[in-house]
Order: sequence, then C-alpha cells, then structure tokens
Amino acid sequence: MVSFALNGVGVSGGIAIGRAQLVSHATLEVAHYTIPAGKVDAEITRFAHAVAEVKHELEGMHTAMTGGDVPGEFGAFLDVHWMILNDPTLSEAPKRIILEQRCNAEWALTQQMGVLVEQFEQIEDAYLRERKADIVQVGERVLKRLMGKPGALPAPVAEEQTILVAHDLSPADVIQFKHHRYGAFLTDVGGVTSHTAIVARSLNVPAVVATHNARQLIRDSEMLIVDGDSGVVIINPDRAVLSEYRLKQTELELERQKLKRLRSKPATTIDGHHVELHANIELPEDLEQTLENGATGVGLFRSEFLFLNRAGLPGEDEQFEAYRAVAQGMGNRPVTIRTFDLGADKNAAGLDGLARVAPNPALGLRAVRFCLAEPRLFLTQLRAILRASHYGNVRILVPMLASSSEIAQTLAMLEQAKESLREQGVPFDSQVQVGGMIEIPAAVIAMDAFLTRLDFLSIGTNDLIQYTLAVDRADEAVAHLYDPLHPAIIRLLAMAIGLAGKAGKPIAVCGEMAGEVHLTRLLLGLGLRHFSMHPAHLLSVKQRVLTTEVAAIKALTDRIRRADNPDKIAALVDRLNTL
Ligand code: PEP
Ligand code: MG
Repeated sequence: MVSFALNGVGVSGGIAIGRAQLVSHATLEVAHYTIPAGKVDAEITRFAHAVAEVKHELEGMHTAMTGGDVPGEFGAFLDVHWMILNDPTLSEAPKRIILEQRCNAEWALTQQMGVLVEQFEQIEDAYLRERKADIVQVGERVLKRLMGKPGALPAPVAEEQTILVAHDLSPADVIQFKHHRYGAFLTDVGGVTSHTAIVARSLNVPAVVATHNARQLIRDSEMLIVDGDSGVVIINPDRAVLSEYRLKQTELELERQKLKRLRSKPATTIDGHHVELHANIELPEDLEQTLENGATGVGLFRSEFLFLNRAGLPGEDEQFEAYRAVAQGMGNRPVTIRTFDLGADKNAAGLDGLARVAPNPALGLRAVRFCLAEPRLFLTQLRAILRASHYGNVRILVPMLASSSEIAQTLAMLEQAKESLREQGVPFDSQVQVGGMIEIPAAVIAMDAFLTRLDFLSIGTNDLIQYTLAVDRADEAVAHLYDPLHPAIIRLLAMAIGLAGKAGKPIAVCGEMAGEVHLTRLLLGLGLRHFSMHPAHLLSVKQRVLTTEVAAIKALTDRIRRADNPDKIAALVDRLNTL
C-alpha cells in the first residue's frame, strides 16, 4: 500500500489514528458502511419501511388535495412520483444491492438512483429525459426518511477509531456527530472559522479541512493519521511513522492531564488582573465539558443549533426546557443565550416556508435581521429565554447588530415578550441583561448607540474579520486572505475594547480568536479581560493567563497596535509569546 500525505488546514487540534470511512455525496451526502451479515435483513426492512412511509406521505398529500384549491399540475406531479416509487427499479432493486454488497440502505438507494439517472440521460425524448429530476426527488424523499432514523450515520467501528472523510459537511451534519464517537474528520473544502469547523472543534476531535481531494484519494478502511494542529494527513503510514505519532499522541494526552489541575484555579495574571474565561456551547449537552474545564460562565450559547437536523421548529416550551437546563446546570454563573443566528450557512429544514435563497447570504437576512423579519419566531424565543431567566443567571445576546434602529426594535420586542409574560403571571428576571455582538465594522465605528442602550458587548471576531476584510469565512478559495492579525482587525479590537472600557461596559471576545492560545497575550495587552471560547481551549488559555504579566507585555502590544504590516504584527505576536 502506498503511503502518502495530504496537507489541509487544521481546525481542531490533536492527533487521531484510525481507519477511513468515506461519506459519499450523491444528490445528498450519504454515508457508506458495511452491514454485519446478521443485520442485512433488518437493513432491507429499514429500506422497505422508508419506502412505505413515503408512499404514505404521498397518499396524504393526495387526500389533502381533494376538495382543496390545489393546481391540477400538482396532482399530475404526485401521480408521476407515485408511479416512480412503485416501480421495482426504485423500490426493489436497492434491496438486492443491500443483500449483495452488504451495504447500508442509503448507499444502495443512491447507487440505484445513479444507474436510473444515467439511463434516463440516454433517452432521446426530451420530456422523458427530464423525468430524471423526478427520480431524484422521489429518491431524496426516501433518503431523508432513512437518514432521519438511527443508522443514518456509519456506526463507528468499536475497537478502532473511525475517521470520517467527506467532500464537505454542513454544520448540521457535524452536530449529529456529537452522538457518535468518531476519531477525527477530514473535508475537501471549508474555512478555519466556518461554522462547520467551529462545530468540529466543539466535538473535541482533530479535524482538517481544505484537503482539496482527500475524498478522491483516500479509500474506505485505509489507515490514516490526522494531525489537527499541523493540518497534515498521512495515508497508509509505515510502522516508524505510526509509532512516532503514537508517541506524540501520548505526550499530548499527558499534557492534557496536567492542564486538568488548573480546573478550579482562578484565572489571574502574575500582576493580579482577573480574567473571566467562559465557554461557547451549541447544545445543552455541551454543559458537561463546560464544567469539566472550569468555565466560570457560558459566554455564547449558539441557540440556533436547536433548529438544525429536525423537521419542525422548536416551540416555546421545548426552547424553554433547553435554556433552563443550561441555566440551572451553571448554578448562579452567567449563561449568555444568543438569539437565533440563522441564515448564511445555518439553515434549518423547519424554516422552509420562511427562508429564501439570498443572492449573498452572509450579507442577507441573517441573525437579528431574520428575527426582526419574523417577529413571531423571535417573540417565541424571547419568551422562552425570559422564562428560563427565572431559574438562573441568564443574559441575552443579540447577533449581527449594525444600527441603533435594530437595537431599538429588539428592545421593543423584548418589552413586548416581558409584557405578555407579566399578563400571564409567568415569572422571569425583569432585570435580565441584554448585550450586543460586535460583528460588523459599523458597530465599532459607531459604537455610541451600543454603549448607551445595551448592558454588555461581545465581539464576534469570526464575523468581524469576515465583514471587515470582505472574506467569506466559509470559502476556502479566499481562506488565505482571512487574517486575524490584519492591522485593521487589531485596531478595531483595540478601539472596541477601549471605548467599552471608557464607558464602563463589560466587553468580551467570543469569536475563535478568544480560544487561540497564541493570541491570548495580544488580547490581554489590548485590555481584554473577558474571553469566551470552546471548552476544550479553556485550560490552555488559562495557563497562558497565569503566566502573563500585563505590565510586561504593554510596550510590545502598543507597538502591535501601531504596526501596519501583517507580517510584522505576526512576528511581534510571536515575540509576545516568548516573554
Ligand atoms: C463570531 O462571529 O465570532 C461568533 C462568535 O459568532 P458565529 O461564529 O456563530 O457567527
Ligand atoms: Mg458571528
């Protein structure tokens, strides 16, 4: 077996050694895995059930139509889909594939869809040729049913680590992995601060993105080493390389164990500056890791993840339960719930009726803009958060604010939510603090409105960098231009921290920069005393805080603030870390 290496961008550190598991992408990304001999019949039944469910779904649509004012073409379209679904080439052939190849139902169906689409492409009649789109639609319906059921993701091999290799993964895909134990994952595309990378980090497994063609070059079950720090992937390593990396793995583990001793130590610099280290979470189950790593609060609860991977929208009670679980789990430590940041790369299936395809989603109806455009959805969330505020120390954080009118509208909506709860006699914390995310350069340049109307601020550097440098954070073609050390970013950070300090308003950084131990001293030097990051980074950042003397880094950070060249800034930051 040939040994070779691929270089990508490491987005989540650590070393994993394991076997590749390829995730195929047909019309949807579907997993491919082997079914144990004794489970083949059950897999065939799972497929048959999914087909039956879709039949039921189509029947339901038919019934709903009768008597309704549904256009006639819709009926014809349903008939075509019904016929396709009942044709043995779609409903029976995959069963044979499952049996013969001992593969999962999704994979069998995707393969068969590929064969059918190819056959249709050969047809001369244009009308019939176009029916291939219907085959794909019917196939996708069945796939969705299958993928919503256990078995949708490859079951990781018990005794060996499984490394997922995909062309691309959406944040919604990655969040599903929280329930599985993968050793690492690799994708062909992706940027360092894309939400996919952020969620990967939160899984606490090594991850490398932007490998360009890992999906094509790596075969199922090949042995891989993934180095999430350097972004290197070694395929079919020889023995010497394997033992070298096993040694590194042990060293890293030892380091991790040592850091654990810092868990309950307060984060104070050598010269006595206290620093708050909070955690960023996506789901209530992240609490365990948050507490294990000694976070003194939750600085960012990305609540929109409650929306992903589900058919309907979470109602007020369901949201309330999720927020209350976090609030209670954290005792009286602050829990900062960010209102939904949907749009751009985070779209929920349940929003189908509300969302539309924007020409430029990152600049479109995202985050607070989306919430203000959908007041019912926003009010439901605000009521749920307020209700949870009765059970802990809850704060509300609003993403992507750009103007004072958005602040005013948000506060008015909050007032409305409070009023409705008061009328119903539902308890909530009437003093709940409201903060704004600083993610758009305009928010820093005209920060007065933020300072006068909000209780606290949190800088989302991931978006602040994206919008300041006009670099799409999820697009690896421009990833080389995405630079946290660009002089404009350093100056905006210094300005925001300075203005908030003067106004006596608490300010945090909750973007990925906060968890970069290499940047801890720079941020401390710029005056930051409140960091929020993925729990896995908390202890190493704390260690850096404990070994920093703010007075000693002052002169160098002042030079960094004045520097105009990114390379020079990078060199000065390196020096800062050797002090
Ligand atoms: C940010 O933009 O820095 C941030 C913390 O929010 P998100 O990454 O979820 O956009
Ligand atoms: Mg953001």
